[in-house]
Amino acid sequence: MAKSYDLIIVGAGMVGTLSAILLAKSSLRIALVDKHNGEYRLSTPPAYDARVSAISSQSKALLEAANVWQGIARDRIASYDNMVVWDGLGEGHVDFNAGEAVMPELGHLVENAVLNQQLMEQARHAKNIDLYLGDTLDSHELSESGVRVELASGHALDAQVIIAADGALSKLRMENAFDTIEWDYGHHAIVTTIEIAQPHENTAWQSFGEEGILAFLPLPSVEQKHFVSIVWSVPPQEAESLMTLDEETFCRRLHYAMNKRFDVLGITQTRQSIPLRQRHAKQYVKAGLALIGDAAHTIHPLAGQGANLGFGDVKALVEVLEKAHRRGEHLGASKVLRRYQRARMLDNIAMAAGMESFKRLFSTQQPFIVQLRNIGMKRFNQNASLKMKLVAKAAGLS
Ligand SMILES: Cc1cc2nc3c(=O)[nH]c(=O)nc-3n(C[C@H](O)[C@H](O)[C@H](O)COP(=O)(O)OP(=O)(O)OC[C@H]3O[C@@H](n4cnc5c(N)ncnc54)[C@H](O)[C@@H]3O)c2cc1C
Repeated sequence: MAKSYDLIIVGAGMVGTLSAILLAKSSLRIALVDKHNGEYRLSTPPAYDARVSAISSQSKALLEAANVWQGIARDRIASYDNMVVWDGLGEGHVDFNAGEAVMPELGHLVENAVLNQQLMEQARHAKNIDLYLGDTLDSHELSESGVRVELASGHALDAQVIIAADGALSKLRMENAFDTIEWDYGHHAIVTTIEIAQPHENTAWQSFGEEGILAFLPLPSVEQKHFVSIVWSVPPQEAESLMTLDEETFCRRLHYAMNKRFDVLGITQTRQSIPLRQRHAKQYVKAGLALIGDAAHTIHPLAGQGANLGFGDVKALVEVLEKAHRRGEHLGASKVLRRYQRARMLDNIAMAAGMESFKRLFSTQQPFIVQLRNIGMKRFNQNASLKMKLVAKAAGLS
Protein backbone atom coordinates (compact mmCIF):
# COMPACT_ATOMS: atom_id res chain seq x y z
CA MET A 1 0.00 0.00 0.00
CA ALA A 2 1.38 3.42 -0.97
CA LYS A 3 1.40 6.15 1.64
CA SER A 4 -0.43 9.27 0.41
CA TYR A 5 0.85 12.85 0.58
CA ASP A 6 -0.01 16.16 -1.03
CA LEU A 7 3.62 16.65 -2.09
CA ILE A 8 6.82 14.65 -2.35
CA ILE A 9 9.99 16.75 -2.22
CA VAL A 10 13.15 15.02 -3.40
CA GLY A 11 16.26 16.74 -2.02
CA ALA A 12 16.60 18.04 1.52
CA GLY A 13 19.31 20.61 0.76
CA MET A 14 18.70 24.24 1.70
CA VAL A 15 16.09 24.77 -0.99
CA GLY A 16 14.08 21.54 -0.64
CA THR A 17 13.97 21.66 3.16
CA LEU A 18 12.92 25.31 3.28
CA SER A 19 10.10 24.62 0.83
CA ALA A 20 8.94 21.65 2.94
CA ILE A 21 8.84 23.71 6.15
CA LEU A 22 6.95 26.61 4.56
CA LEU A 23 4.46 24.38 2.74
CA ALA A 24 3.84 22.37 5.91
CA LYS A 25 2.49 25.58 7.48
CA SER A 26 -0.55 25.28 5.15
CA SER A 27 -1.23 21.85 6.62
CA LEU A 28 -0.16 20.16 3.39
CA ARG A 29 1.16 16.63 3.97
CA ILE A 30 4.73 16.31 2.76
CA ALA A 31 7.27 13.55 2.20
CA LEU A 32 10.85 14.87 2.18
CA VAL A 33 13.35 12.43 0.67
CA ASP A 34 17.16 12.68 0.68
CA LYS A 35 20.01 10.27 0.19
CA HIS A 36 21.90 12.16 2.92
CA ASN A 37 21.16 11.05 6.48
CA GLY A 38 20.28 14.58 7.63
CA GLU A 39 23.02 14.73 10.28
CA TYR A 40 25.36 17.73 9.97
CA ARG A 41 28.53 17.77 12.03
CA LEU A 42 29.60 21.36 12.55
CA SER A 43 33.25 22.27 12.59
CA THR A 44 34.58 24.29 15.52
CA PRO A 45 35.53 27.92 14.79
CA PRO A 46 37.90 29.11 13.54
CA ALA A 47 37.80 26.00 11.34
CA TYR A 48 34.61 27.37 9.77
CA ASP A 49 33.02 25.16 7.12
CA ALA A 50 34.65 25.79 3.72
CA ARG A 51 31.20 26.20 2.12
CA VAL A 52 29.42 29.40 3.15
CA SER A 53 26.54 31.33 1.60
CA ALA A 54 25.86 35.04 1.38
CA ILE A 55 22.21 35.31 2.39
CA SER A 56 20.15 38.24 1.05
CA SER A 57 17.50 40.16 3.00
CA GLN A 58 14.70 38.40 1.15
CA SER A 59 16.20 34.98 1.90
CA LYS A 60 16.69 35.92 5.55
CA ALA A 61 13.01 36.93 5.76
CA LEU A 62 11.99 33.52 4.37
CA LEU A 63 14.28 31.72 6.83
CA GLU A 64 12.72 33.76 9.64
CA ALA A 65 9.23 32.83 8.45
CA ALA A 66 10.33 29.18 8.69
CA ASN A 67 11.68 29.82 12.23
CA VAL A 68 15.12 28.73 11.02
CA TRP A 69 17.10 31.98 11.24
CA GLN A 70 16.18 32.43 14.92
CA GLY A 71 17.79 29.07 15.78
CA ILE A 72 21.21 29.86 14.29
CA ALA A 73 23.79 30.74 16.97
CA ARG A 74 24.77 34.43 16.61
CA ASP A 75 28.46 33.54 16.68
CA ARG A 76 27.97 31.53 13.46
CA ILE A 77 26.55 34.49 11.49
CA ALA A 78 28.52 37.46 10.13
CA SER A 79 26.74 40.44 8.66
CA TYR A 80 28.42 42.56 6.02
CA ASP A 81 27.69 46.24 5.57
CA ASN A 82 30.02 46.97 2.67
CA MET A 83 31.16 45.37 -0.50
CA VAL A 84 34.28 46.49 -2.35
CA VAL A 85 34.92 45.25 -5.86
CA TRP A 86 38.00 46.23 -7.83
CA ASP A 87 39.77 45.52 -11.05
CA GLY A 88 43.18 44.04 -10.33
CA LEU A 89 44.38 45.26 -13.74
CA GLY A 90 43.61 48.94 -13.20
CA GLU A 91 42.36 51.61 -10.86
CA GLY A 92 38.64 50.92 -11.25
CA HIS A 93 36.66 49.99 -8.18
CA VAL A 94 33.08 50.02 -6.94
CA ASP A 95 32.00 50.14 -3.33
CA PHE A 96 28.55 49.40 -2.03
CA ASN A 97 27.45 50.49 1.39
CA ALA A 98 24.37 49.46 3.38
CA GLY A 99 23.92 53.01 4.74
CA GLU A 100 23.77 54.50 1.23
CA ALA A 101 21.18 51.90 0.26
CA VAL A 102 19.20 52.63 3.48
CA MET A 103 19.52 49.01 4.58
CA PRO A 104 20.67 47.73 7.99
CA GLU A 105 23.22 45.49 6.23
CA LEU A 106 23.92 44.20 2.73
CA GLY A 107 23.60 40.57 3.79
CA HIS A 108 24.83 37.80 6.06
CA LEU A 109 27.38 35.02 5.71
CA VAL A 110 26.43 31.63 7.13
CA GLU A 111 28.13 28.26 6.79
CA ASN A 112 26.08 25.86 4.65
CA ALA A 113 26.34 23.11 7.30
CA VAL A 114 24.97 25.47 9.98
CA LEU A 115 22.04 26.46 7.78
CA ASN A 116 21.31 22.89 6.73
CA GLN A 117 21.40 21.72 10.34
CA GLN A 118 18.83 24.33 11.44
CA LEU A 119 16.60 23.64 8.46
CA MET A 120 16.64 19.92 9.24
CA GLU A 121 15.88 20.67 12.90
CA GLN A 122 12.72 22.58 11.93
CA ALA A 123 11.69 19.92 9.39
CA ARG A 124 11.97 17.27 12.12
CA HIS A 125 9.62 19.35 14.31
CA ALA A 126 6.92 19.84 11.67
CA LYS A 127 4.22 17.29 12.34
CA ASN A 128 3.04 17.03 8.74
CA ILE A 129 6.48 16.35 7.23
CA ASP A 130 7.62 12.73 7.02
CA LEU A 131 11.36 12.39 6.50
CA TYR A 132 12.79 9.63 4.32
CA LEU A 133 16.50 10.17 4.91
CA GLY A 134 19.33 7.98 3.69
CA ASP A 135 16.91 6.96 0.94
CA THR A 136 16.68 7.61 -2.80
CA LEU A 137 14.18 7.51 -5.57
CA ASP A 138 14.09 4.14 -7.28
CA SER A 139 11.34 4.81 -9.80
CA HIS A 140 8.51 7.26 -10.38
CA GLU A 141 5.48 7.72 -12.61
CA LEU A 142 4.08 11.14 -13.45
CA SER A 143 0.64 12.12 -14.70
CA GLU A 144 -1.84 15.01 -14.46
CA SER A 145 -3.70 13.04 -11.81
CA GLY A 146 -0.68 12.52 -9.58
CA VAL A 147 2.68 10.86 -8.99
CA ARG A 148 3.66 7.47 -7.73
CA VAL A 149 7.12 6.90 -6.29
CA GLU A 150 9.09 3.86 -5.18
CA LEU A 151 12.04 4.50 -2.89
CA ALA A 152 15.16 2.34 -2.76
CA SER A 153 14.12 1.29 0.77
CA GLY A 154 10.96 -0.23 -0.69
CA HIS A 155 8.55 2.51 0.52
CA ALA A 156 5.83 3.40 -1.97
CA LEU A 157 4.51 6.98 -1.89
CA ASP A 158 1.91 8.85 -3.89
CA ALA A 159 1.11 12.53 -4.08
CA GLN A 160 -0.43 15.24 -6.25
CA VAL A 161 2.97 16.64 -7.21
CA ILE A 162 6.69 15.91 -6.89
CA ILE A 163 9.16 18.75 -6.34
CA ALA A 164 12.69 18.17 -7.65
CA ALA A 165 15.11 19.93 -5.28
CA ASP A 166 17.79 17.33 -5.92
CA GLY A 167 20.55 19.73 -6.90
CA ALA A 168 22.59 20.52 -9.98
CA LEU A 169 22.78 16.91 -11.20
CA SER A 170 19.05 16.38 -10.65
CA LYS A 171 18.04 12.84 -11.52
CA LEU A 172 14.41 13.91 -11.81
CA ARG A 173 15.33 16.63 -14.33
CA MET A 174 17.38 14.21 -16.42
CA GLU A 175 14.96 11.26 -16.27
CA ASN A 176 12.08 13.50 -17.34
CA ALA A 177 14.08 14.84 -20.31
CA PHE A 178 14.03 18.53 -19.40
CA ASP A 179 16.17 20.39 -21.95
CA THR A 180 18.86 22.64 -20.51
CA ILE A 181 21.14 25.35 -21.79
CA GLU A 182 24.52 24.75 -20.20
CA TRP A 183 28.22 25.30 -20.55
CA ASP A 184 31.36 25.10 -18.48
CA TYR A 185 32.50 28.41 -17.07
CA GLY A 186 36.06 27.17 -17.58
CA HIS A 187 36.61 27.90 -13.90
CA HIS A 188 36.93 25.92 -10.70
CA ALA A 189 36.21 27.61 -7.37
CA ILE A 190 38.66 26.97 -4.54
CA VAL A 191 37.00 27.47 -1.18
CA THR A 192 38.45 27.44 2.32
CA THR A 193 38.73 29.54 5.50
CA ILE A 194 41.77 31.68 6.24
CA GLU A 195 43.05 33.90 9.02
CA ILE A 196 44.02 37.45 8.09
CA ALA A 197 46.08 39.95 10.07
CA GLN A 198 43.87 43.01 9.46
CA PRO A 199 40.17 43.30 10.43
CA HIS A 200 37.80 42.55 7.54
CA GLU A 201 35.69 45.59 8.48
CA ASN A 202 32.44 43.67 7.91
CA THR A 203 33.13 44.00 4.22
CA ALA A 204 32.92 41.51 1.36
CA TRP A 205 36.06 42.08 -0.73
CA GLN A 206 36.25 40.98 -4.32
CA SER A 207 39.11 41.29 -6.78
CA PHE A 208 38.94 40.60 -10.51
CA GLY A 209 42.48 40.27 -11.77
CA GLU A 210 45.12 38.25 -13.55
CA GLU A 211 44.99 35.80 -10.64
CA GLY A 212 41.28 35.08 -11.25
CA ILE A 213 38.18 36.20 -9.34
CA LEU A 214 38.83 36.20 -5.62
CA ALA A 215 36.38 36.98 -2.80
CA PHE A 216 37.17 37.41 0.91
CA LEU A 217 33.89 37.02 2.79
CA PRO A 218 33.78 38.07 6.47
CA LEU A 219 33.32 35.47 9.20
CA PRO A 220 32.88 36.02 12.94
CA SER A 221 36.12 36.91 14.72
CA VAL A 222 37.44 34.56 17.43
CA GLU A 223 39.54 35.95 20.31
CA GLN A 224 40.18 39.13 18.32
CA LYS A 225 41.54 37.14 15.41
CA HIS A 226 40.05 37.74 11.98
CA PHE A 227 38.78 35.13 9.56
CA VAL A 228 37.35 35.16 6.06
CA SER A 229 35.92 32.54 3.77
CA ILE A 230 37.50 32.61 0.33
CA VAL A 231 36.03 31.79 -3.06
CA TRP A 232 38.78 31.84 -5.68
CA SER A 233 37.65 31.15 -9.26
CA VAL A 234 40.42 30.22 -11.67
CA PRO A 235 40.87 28.02 -14.77
CA PRO A 236 40.94 24.27 -13.92
CA GLN A 237 44.70 23.74 -14.45
CA GLU A 238 45.43 26.76 -12.24
CA ALA A 239 43.06 25.38 -9.57
CA GLU A 240 44.90 22.07 -9.69
CA SER A 241 48.21 23.78 -9.06
CA LEU A 242 46.80 26.03 -6.27
CA MET A 243 45.39 22.95 -4.53
CA THR A 244 48.84 21.38 -4.31
CA LEU A 245 50.68 24.45 -2.98
CA ASP A 246 51.99 24.27 0.57
CA GLU A 247 50.15 26.49 3.06
CA GLU A 248 52.74 29.26 3.15
CA THR A 249 52.93 29.64 -0.63
CA PHE A 250 49.13 29.46 -0.96
CA CYS A 251 48.75 32.26 1.62
CA ARG A 252 51.34 34.38 -0.17
CA ARG A 253 49.49 33.92 -3.48
CA LEU A 254 46.28 35.00 -1.77
CA HIS A 255 47.99 38.11 -0.42
CA TYR A 256 49.05 39.18 -3.92
CA ALA A 257 45.78 38.15 -5.57
CA MET A 258 43.92 40.40 -3.09
CA ASN A 259 46.14 43.34 -4.15
CA LYS A 260 48.23 43.06 -0.95
CA ARG A 261 45.26 44.41 1.02
CA PHE A 262 45.54 41.67 3.70
CA ASP A 263 48.36 39.68 5.22
CA VAL A 264 47.24 36.07 5.17
CA LEU A 265 48.36 34.24 8.31
CA GLY A 266 47.17 30.70 7.63
CA ILE A 267 44.44 28.31 6.47
CA THR A 268 42.02 26.95 9.06
CA GLN A 269 40.02 24.57 6.87
CA THR A 270 40.80 22.02 4.15
CA ARG A 271 40.75 23.46 0.64
CA GLN A 272 38.04 22.26 -1.77
CA SER A 273 37.98 22.73 -5.53
CA ILE A 274 34.54 22.86 -7.17
CA PRO A 275 34.00 22.86 -10.97
CA LEU A 276 31.63 25.64 -12.03
CA ARG A 277 28.98 25.14 -14.65
CA GLN A 278 26.21 27.41 -15.90
CA ARG A 279 22.99 25.48 -16.39
CA HIS A 280 19.42 26.54 -16.96
CA ALA A 281 16.43 24.28 -17.61
CA LYS A 282 14.34 25.57 -20.53
CA GLN A 283 11.18 24.60 -18.64
CA TYR A 284 10.80 24.26 -14.87
CA VAL A 285 7.58 22.24 -14.87
CA LYS A 286 5.72 19.29 -16.37
CA ALA A 287 2.39 17.86 -15.25
CA GLY A 288 3.03 16.57 -11.74
CA LEU A 289 6.63 17.86 -11.43
CA ALA A 290 8.40 21.16 -10.66
CA LEU A 291 12.15 21.89 -10.56
CA ILE A 292 13.48 24.29 -7.94
CA GLY A 293 16.90 25.59 -6.83
CA ASP A 294 20.02 24.12 -8.41
CA ALA A 295 17.90 21.42 -10.07
CA ALA A 296 16.49 24.23 -12.26
CA HIS A 297 19.52 26.55 -12.55
CA THR A 298 23.13 27.02 -11.49
CA ILE A 299 25.21 30.17 -11.91
CA HIS A 300 28.74 31.41 -11.25
CA PRO A 301 29.18 32.09 -7.50
CA LEU A 302 30.85 35.47 -8.07
CA ALA A 303 27.86 37.41 -6.71
CA GLY A 304 26.80 34.76 -4.18
CA GLN A 305 23.29 34.42 -5.62
CA GLY A 306 22.71 30.69 -6.35
CA ALA A 307 20.96 29.75 -3.11
CA ASN A 308 19.20 33.13 -3.02
CA LEU A 309 17.67 32.39 -6.42
CA GLY A 310 16.66 28.97 -5.10
CA PHE A 311 14.98 30.60 -2.10
CA GLY A 312 13.23 32.94 -4.56
CA ASP A 313 11.88 29.81 -6.29
CA VAL A 314 10.67 28.53 -2.91
CA LYS A 315 8.81 31.77 -2.18
CA ALA A 316 7.05 31.73 -5.56
CA LEU A 317 6.24 28.00 -5.45
CA VAL A 318 4.85 28.20 -1.91
CA GLU A 319 2.61 31.14 -2.88
CA VAL A 320 1.32 29.33 -5.99
CA LEU A 321 0.68 26.00 -4.23
CA GLU A 322 -0.94 27.56 -1.16
CA LYS A 323 -3.32 29.53 -3.34
CA ALA A 324 -4.13 26.49 -5.48
CA HIS A 325 -4.74 24.45 -2.31
CA ARG A 326 -7.16 27.08 -0.94
CA ARG A 327 -9.03 27.08 -4.27
CA GLY A 328 -9.22 23.30 -4.30
CA GLU A 329 -7.14 23.00 -7.49
CA HIS A 330 -5.02 19.92 -8.19
CA LEU A 331 -1.46 20.81 -7.11
CA GLY A 332 0.20 18.88 -9.95
CA ALA A 333 -1.96 20.37 -12.73
CA SER A 334 0.16 21.93 -15.49
CA LYS A 335 -1.79 25.19 -15.33
CA VAL A 336 -1.02 25.51 -11.60
CA LEU A 337 2.71 24.72 -11.92
CA ARG A 338 3.10 27.04 -14.92
CA ARG A 339 2.19 29.96 -12.63
CA TYR A 340 5.33 29.18 -10.63
CA GLN A 341 7.44 28.97 -13.78
CA ARG A 342 6.10 32.32 -15.03
CA ALA A 343 6.88 33.93 -11.69
CA ARG A 344 10.52 32.82 -11.65
CA MET A 345 12.03 32.19 -15.04
CA LEU A 346 12.73 35.77 -16.17
CA ASP A 347 14.40 36.72 -12.90
CA ASN A 348 16.59 33.64 -12.94
CA ILE A 349 17.60 34.14 -16.59
CA ALA A 350 18.40 37.81 -15.95
CA MET A 351 20.70 36.88 -13.05
CA ALA A 352 22.42 34.12 -15.07
CA ALA A 353 22.98 36.54 -17.98
CA GLY A 354 24.37 39.16 -15.59
CA MET A 355 26.85 36.70 -14.07
CA GLU A 356 27.96 35.52 -17.50
CA SER A 357 28.56 39.09 -18.70
CA PHE A 358 30.55 39.92 -15.57
CA LYS A 359 32.62 36.79 -15.89
CA ARG A 360 33.38 37.49 -19.58
CA LEU A 361 34.04 41.19 -19.05
CA PHE A 362 36.61 40.45 -16.36
CA SER A 363 38.17 37.41 -18.05
CA THR A 364 39.81 39.48 -20.76
CA GLN A 365 43.16 41.20 -20.35
CA GLN A 366 43.00 43.10 -23.67
CA PRO A 367 44.29 46.59 -22.82
CA PHE A 368 41.46 48.41 -24.62
CA ILE A 369 38.74 46.44 -22.81
CA VAL A 370 40.59 46.76 -19.48
CA GLN A 371 40.72 50.54 -19.95
CA LEU A 372 37.04 50.75 -20.88
CA ARG A 373 36.02 48.54 -17.97
CA ASN A 374 37.98 50.69 -15.51
CA ILE A 375 36.34 53.87 -16.81
CA GLY A 376 32.95 52.11 -16.55
CA MET A 377 33.61 51.07 -12.96
CA LYS A 378 34.64 54.58 -11.95
CA ARG A 379 31.54 56.10 -13.54
CA PHE A 380 29.31 53.44 -12.01
CA ASN A 381 30.84 54.07 -8.59
CA GLN A 382 29.81 57.74 -8.83
CA ASN A 383 26.23 56.88 -9.75
CA ALA A 384 24.50 56.45 -6.39
CA SER A 385 21.03 55.68 -7.75
CA LEU A 386 22.29 52.96 -10.11
CA LYS A 387 24.27 51.39 -7.26
CA MET A 388 21.18 51.44 -5.03
CA LYS A 389 19.19 49.64 -7.71
CA LEU A 390 21.86 46.92 -7.98
CA VAL A 391 22.03 46.50 -4.21
CA ALA A 392 18.24 46.20 -4.02
CA LYS A 393 18.30 43.59 -6.79
CA ALA A 394 21.00 41.54 -5.03
CA ALA A 395 19.03 41.76 -1.78
CA GLY A 396 15.98 40.38 -3.59
CA LEU A 397 14.10 43.62 -2.87
CA SER A 398 13.29 44.61 -6.43
C1 LIG B 1 31.77 27.96 -4.48
C2 LIG B 1 30.31 28.29 -4.34
C3 LIG B 1 29.93 29.37 -3.57
C4 LIG B 1 28.58 29.70 -3.44
N1 LIG B 1 28.23 30.79 -2.70
C5 LIG B 1 26.94 31.14 -2.62
C6 LIG B 1 26.52 32.29 -1.87
O1 LIG B 1 27.35 32.98 -1.28
N2 LIG B 1 25.20 32.62 -1.83
C7 LIG B 1 24.27 31.90 -2.51
O2 LIG B 1 23.09 32.26 -2.47
N3 LIG B 1 24.61 30.79 -3.21
C8 LIG B 1 25.91 30.40 -3.29
N4 LIG B 1 26.25 29.28 -3.99
C9 LIG B 1 25.20 28.45 -4.61
C10 LIG B 1 24.55 27.52 -3.57
O3 LIG B 1 25.54 26.79 -2.87
C11 LIG B 1 23.57 26.57 -4.24
O4 LIG B 1 22.76 27.31 -5.13
C12 LIG B 1 22.68 25.88 -3.23
O5 LIG B 1 23.43 25.15 -2.30
C13 LIG B 1 21.71 24.93 -3.93
O6 LIG B 1 20.87 24.32 -2.98
P1 LIG B 1 19.86 23.16 -3.43
O7 LIG B 1 19.13 22.79 -2.19
O8 LIG B 1 19.10 23.59 -4.65
O9 LIG B 1 20.79 21.97 -3.92
P2 LIG B 1 21.80 21.06 -3.09
O10 LIG B 1 22.41 21.81 -1.98
O11 LIG B 1 22.71 20.45 -4.10
O12 LIG B 1 20.86 19.94 -2.44
C14 LIG B 1 20.39 18.85 -3.18
C15 LIG B 1 20.00 17.75 -2.21
O13 LIG B 1 19.41 16.69 -2.97
C16 LIG B 1 19.91 15.45 -2.49
N5 LIG B 1 19.81 14.50 -3.61
C17 LIG B 1 20.41 14.58 -4.81
N6 LIG B 1 20.06 13.56 -5.59
C18 LIG B 1 19.19 12.79 -4.86
C19 LIG B 1 18.47 11.60 -5.11
N7 LIG B 1 18.55 10.99 -6.29
N8 LIG B 1 17.69 11.09 -4.14
C20 LIG B 1 17.61 11.72 -2.93
N9 LIG B 1 18.26 12.87 -2.64
C21 LIG B 1 19.04 13.40 -3.59
C22 LIG B 1 21.34 15.75 -2.06
O14 LIG B 1 21.78 14.81 -1.09
C23 LIG B 1 21.18 17.14 -1.46
O15 LIG B 1 20.89 17.12 -0.09
C24 LIG B 1 27.59 28.93 -4.12
C25 LIG B 1 27.98 27.83 -4.89
C26 LIG B 1 29.32 27.52 -5.01
C27 LIG B 1 29.72 26.33 -5.88
